[in-house]
Amino acid sequence: MNQEIDALIELQKLDISIDGLKIKANEIPLIIEKAKTDFETKNTNLETLKQELARIQLDKKQKELDLHTKEEERKKHQSELNKVKKNDQYFALQKEINQVGKDISAIEDGILNMMDSIETVNTKIKQEQELIKQEEGKLGQEIDRFNGDLESINKAITGQEAHRKEIAARIPAESLTLYERIRRSKKGLAVAEIKKNHSCGGCHMTLPPQIVNEVRKLERLVLCESCSRILFWKGE
Ligand SMILES: [Zn+2]
Repeated sequence: MNQEIDALIELQKLDISIDGLKIKANEIPLIIEKAKTDFETKNTNLETLKQELARIQLDKKQKELDLHTKEEERKKHQSELNKVKKNDQYFALQKEINQVGKDISAIEDGILNMMDSIETVNTKIKQEQELIKQEEGKLGQEIDRFNGDLESINKAITGQEAHRKEIAARIPAESLTLYERIRRSKKGLAVAEIKKNHSCGGCHMTLPPQIVNEVRKLERLVLCESCSRILFWKGE
């Protein structure tokens, strides 16, 4: 019976360890997924900058068309200037040419401003791309590290499961079934130690002296009356 209890305790240790390892192994893909999502969120900055650049370039093209139209208008007025006979017509036309000239200057200023903006945004894009490249490198390293961890964990699980098989083979089928059933219903802890104050290590209820004595006799598996866990005595 002593060996059976020892085997059950060992089995429980392994099961708790395997459970913990499996939780870790399941978490790793989620952590990797989160790291990738975080990385992609950072990329939206670059997308915003690219959209801004496209918008300025489109505005600039429009201004260049406007400029062309105004320049054509000025040319037309200037050729008309040579044909007018009357003074008032001449002055009106001259006034119009001046106005077109002012419009052209304003458009040219606007285009220059846009060229400055394009340069600024382009610089920002380059910086952002550099940053992303660095982040991408870091992310790659991080993912490699996590995958390495996952591999070690899976190896440990395989090893511990093999060991568990050996231990389980030493336990009578009936006791093993009992252990498995309690483990499922108690979410992990199926074998509980009797504490020095004679309480159950699983549910902390004080155990009657005859139960403690029975456990110490090691004649059969004894269950806690309140939580139904298999009890064991480690004391002197
Ligand atoms: Zn108990």
